[in-house]
Amino acid sequence: MSARRSDSRSITDRADLHTHTTASDGLLRPGQLVALAAQRGLAAIAITDHDTLDGVLEIQALGEVELLVVPGVELSCSQGGEDVHLLGYGIDPAAPVLGDLLRERQDERRARATAIVGRLTELGAAISLERVTAIAGSGTVGRPHIARALVESGHVSTIGEAFDRYLASGRPAYIERPVLTPRRAIPIIHRAGGAAVLAHPLYSPGYVDFLPLLVEAGLDGIEVVYPDHDGATQRQLAALAASYGLVGTGGSDFHADSGRPGRSLGESTVPVGVVEQLEERAARRHDMGSS
Ligand code: AMP
Ligand code: ZN
Ligand code: FE
Ligand code: FE
Repeated sequence: MSARRSDSRSITDRADLHTHTTASDGLLRPGQLVALAAQRGLAAIAITDHDTLDGVLEIQALGEVELLVVPGVELSCSQGGEDVHLLGYGIDPAAPVLGDLLRERQDERRARATAIVGRLTELGAAISLERVTAIAGSGTVGRPHIARALVESGHVSTIGEAFDRYLASGRPAYIERPVLTPRRAIPIIHRAGGAAVLAHPLYSPGYVDFLPLLVEAGLDGIEVVYPDHDGATQRQLAALAASYGLVGTGGSDFHADSGRPGRSLGESTVPVGVVEQLEERAARRHDMGSS
């Protein structure tokens, strides 16, 4: 896994393997995220922005950093009508097969943002596409940026209200994205040298039924430690992972310090050894030539 580590202080053996930066909908620049992770004594983080590797590339351009940074990505997929998020770990950011997929998804996201803004205008909650794009900056544009524009313009008072009234699935300004299936995404992660992990399985309640399908498609792991997972849930998911031979991973899904329990950087972690388990899986997939 192309990652960097200096000799220096690794204060704990903990790894937070689910984080976002300004490259998607996080509020910290990649460099700020890494600095905060070092300050919090983490041994490793994975940068897993939605549909982009720009944050990973920004860190790689910095050269040596203070802790292990696993190059990752979070892909929004759909399975049986349910949103399913897949994490790719240890991917090569230069892999053309993944680059092509990410460009396709970025184009679709821009088209979707345009359509949502149009819908909001019809609904009497007009915001400008330019403002949404400015809020997203150079990063992946998503509903969180539209939600921020809605708050700014006074149509709603919180991000949560923006989703509840307009943007969440089933609400009037919800627009679906073209479907990406895990069956398509998982081999692409493998061909880019990575391991594929099911993110926050409880957000996709059908996971118990579709998990065998994903395993057949080459799934390598499942997120066991997550802010919303209590001890009993973690034990259940760890048992499920073991029964399918999957790596149990975990992270905070950090976007910004929101005050929500478990979601601060480093608040939901796994031992750094999990990174090696993922590396082994990815290497095995690569040897098998899973393409
Ligand atoms: P998108 O990638 O454009 O489909 O937006 C998905 C992102 O929106 C998720 O990763 C969350 O960060 C955020 N999100 C989804 N639902 C909600 C909600 N109800 N309240 C706040 N944020 C949400
Ligand atoms: Zn996000
Ligand atoms: Fe997610
Ligand atoms: Fe996430």
